[in-house]
Amino acid sequence: MMRSRETENMTLDWHVCSRARLSRDPRFDGKFFIGVLGSRVYCRPICPAPTAKEKNVRYFPTAAAAAEAGFRPCLRCRPECSPGTPAWLGTSNTVSRALRLIGESGLQSGGMEVLAERLGVGARHLRRLFIRHLGATPNAVAQTRRLHFAKKLIDETMLPMSEVALASGFGCVRRFNAAIQTTYHRTPSQIRRLARQKTIQPENQYIFHLRFRPPYYWDGMLAFLAARATPGVEAVESGNYFRSICVDGMAGYFGVSLDEEHNSLRVCIQFGEPRFLFFIIERIRTMFDLNADWTEIARTLKSDPTLAGLVDFAPGLRVPGCWNGFELATRAILGQQITVRHATALAGRIVETFGRIFPGTGPLTHLFPTPEILTEADLTGMGLPRARGQAIRALARAVCDGRISFEGIVESTSFLQKLTEIPGIGRWTAQYVAMRALGEPDAFPVGDAVLLTTLNLASPAELEFRAESWRPWRAYATVYVWNIANRVTVLGAKRIPQSRKRVPIEDTGHADSMLNA
Ligand SMILES: [Zn+2]
Repeated sequence: MMRSRETENMTLDWHVCSRARLSRDPRFDGKFFIGVLGSRVYCRPICPAPTAKEKNVRYFPTAAAAAEAGFRPCLRCRPECSPGTPAWLGTSNTVSRALRLIGESGLQSGGMEVLAERLGVGARHLRRLFIRHLGATPNAVAQTRRLHFAKKLIDETMLPMSEVALASGFGCVRRFNAAIQTTYHRTPSQIRRLARQKTIQPENQYIFHLRFRPPYYWDGMLAFLAARATPGVEAVESGNYFRSICVDGMAGYFGVSLDEEHNSLRVCIQFGEPRFLFFIIERIRTMFDLNADWTEIARTLKSDPTLAGLVDFAPGLRVPGCWNGFELATRAILGQQITVRHATALAGRIVETFGRIFPGTGPLTHLFPTPEILTEADLTGMGLPRARGQAIRALARAVCDGRISFEGIVESTSFLQKLTEIPGIGRWTAQYVAMRALGEPDAFPVGDAVLLTTLNLASPAELEFRAESWRPWRAYATVYVWNIANRVTVLGAKRIPQSRKRVPIEDTGHADSMLNA
């Protein structure tokens, strides 16, 4: 039985916060903020400024809570650069989903009434939940995010202030100026002059550093993405991940690499409309699972002796997300019953035939085809089984006529139910989509063949029983087992049993056809 998450109260553990603050522990960055009474400034646990006495500090669960209590963001540790509130609080699903929606909406707030309605709760109830778990109202949380993003754009880009105001959701320059002045006691231009070294970027190109809570197993993430990189749309080259993107009909691309020294990913974005930067950055954060609270996840996984070995072997593995849910679901269908390599080649062929040409240089030559195009696409010549082609077209149709939307999902159960109504999409594929497109930390590919063979289990029922102790992080446990299945390794004295025949990861999609039969 799942515990009721809404009834638990979020209280910061004073001892934990104090220890993390005194040791400047980056694993706690973004999990709480420190208000310093004398200076009325709030800081990240890693702030390089001299540590204040314990009696002179207050702890807050979020930056918004510190701001509501009258503290200003520190100009040294820059709270706007912290990894942010953990994606899954483990205390309230409603609050986690609300935060996700605030992220997806690109800061264009439709008001808290709209947010509450989409979440299926009353506005007053939502407000109470926010105050209990985050220490601030939904409006305060959204306002802090706008301010933080504005500060990031002021510091890290050369965008004119009028563009910064719009891109950070302020609507007009006057409101933006007033908010910055009130918060920082400085004008936007004064803040920009304070910002450290800045190199001039080509037009429409931006470089951002997105922080995470260490450790981060970048090689594992990159290996997973490299094996599945759709030719023309994605590429992995010398430690970098690249892909073409399309937002609101406009094409662009981004590249991501690891900056280990600063516990961050270095992201280079080429996009013509700064108003979509917030959306793009949030999507990249989700795709690379940067909001994960690694320490918390590892604690649960280590209760399983086999997983404990895997976690120690590769600390910091994340669940790879995706740029676009439709694209991911299409890839998942393509991968059923064939090897990852074969599926990747098929995807490349479909992209070459149906994708829009991407006017760039290097390995990115196309945009992934839209649902509109794939609805009508004749996939018979592509070399995939008829049934897969039909499933992809049915999925595309469902997206086009609005039966299925991969954006703004608040309730994954009903979404996944609708997804499995499409012939050719079974429980395994749906759970795979939940893992990678919805970021559900407890999603679990039922009956997965690699999990079964690697863990030496006899039946899907046995697997489900075993996975009970992995909750609420079954997706992470799954990625760990997949990771190890791809590289034979020794765990202490005991070798993880390997299957006689190597089963490629997405081949496990064949569980679908059995379940659907
Ligand atoms: Zn500070």
